[in-house]
Amino acid sequence: MKKFSVAAALVLGVSAVFAQSVEIATWSGFRKGAASFTFDDGAPSHVTDAGPLFDKYGYKATFNLVVDWNPNWTGFQNMANNGHEIASHSNTHSQVMTGEEASSKQGIEAQISQKYGCITLAYPNCNVPDESAVLANYIAGRICNAWGMSNVMGKDGPNNWAQTPAIMTGSLGSNDFIGNMQTAVQNGGWVMFLTHGFVDKENGAATYSPTNISDMENALQWASQNDKDIWVAPFRNVAMYIKERNASTIELMDGGNPNTVNFKLTHGIKDAISQYDYPLTLRVKKSEDWNRIQVLQANAELEFTLSDDYIIFNAVPNAGLIEIQNLAASSSSEQAESSSSQTLALPEVSKDFPYAVYASGGSVMVSGAQGMSVTVFNALGNKLRSTRALGCEQKVFSGPKGLYIVKVGGQTFKVRL
Ligand SMILES: [Zn+2]
Repeated sequence: MKKFSVAAALVLGVSAVFAQSVEIATWSGFRKGAASFTFDDGAPSHVTDAGPLFDKYGYKATFNLVVDWNPNWTGFQNMANNGHEIASHSNTHSQVMTGEEASSKQGIEAQISQKYGCITLAYPNCNVPDESAVLANYIAGRICNAWGMSNVMGKDGPNNWAQTPAIMTGSLGSNDFIGNMQTAVQNGGWVMFLTHGFVDKENGAATYSPTNISDMENALQWASQNDKDIWVAPFRNVAMYIKERNASTIELMDGGNPNTVNFKLTHGIKDAISQYDYPLTLRVKKSEDWNRIQVLQANAELEFTLSDDYIIFNAVPNAGLIEIQNLAASSSSEQAESSSSQTLALPEVSKDFPYAVYASGGSVMVSGAQGMSVTVFNALGNKLRSTRALGCEQKVFSGPKGLYIVKVGGQTFKVRL
């Protein structure tokens, strides 16, 4: 995992130093290894048997379709809606793919609508085409395991994203799903399987090296029993995760408040294929006295779990400020805020001044006040937004339900969203 630390000095009557660190998990959910299952050639049994089998265990796989073979588009679309990846396996399954990189991607995308589009490719007959054409259209391309590479990749995936290796399964390949997943867990690495049709099922054109579906079911059963250790996810998801994990940095913000950890998770990966916005798993060590915790990104609440004194959650890179707050402290400061606000007699909202401050549609609105400074704080007193009023009716802040303090010029208001 990647670890970022900062130490900040606090002045609380006496000086104190606290250190806070945010870690990015090597694999989603801080699991120890990853496994991807890929299926080639668009067999009817991929829709009728493989999809339901994976769904039964709550796992998702990758299905590589040959555009001109007219697979069951409706069936595969339903699987895409269910989180499976539909990927390219060329237009025609020619011996070596030439010039079909972009058109087969477009062919899949014309038939299948899915969140990330068609962004991975498996080469027909395992023959690597022009790598630059592959990487101009896909985040990764998949070969077979006949290239002298180790079957199980390390935590950073292949040496070359145009040659991501997979273990062929079935009568002509290996059926040691469990042993290879155990190796991935032991090595902290990633294993990918490549399956065609199934023994005694309807295989259409996917007749090569049929696999016993019971072997695959045993593999998924083992994975679900070891789900805390093995991350089973489509090729696309794991490739995105690795690239984002390795490119992301954590920037810790204002270290002065012991009841909040604020930071940004960003990367600068830029290509025309993906936004690289797959969630990364992060963890932050919990301070002992933190009992009521809230995790926000861009003011939206994130789910989290607590484990071994760590706060663990998924956040999306480049998607806004991440804030971890100790609400137990905030409730006392909210009390302090409300008692001080009683003293100060903060108006709830204002529509009487030369300008107006009010809540509408889940947002803090300001109108009038042209050119005046507007600052929005949460109930903890943390500054959330600072801007200058435009004069027209203006949305200055949107966020979760709660009490906010809004300063307009020298005047302070309470606004409840
Ligand atoms: Zn094929």
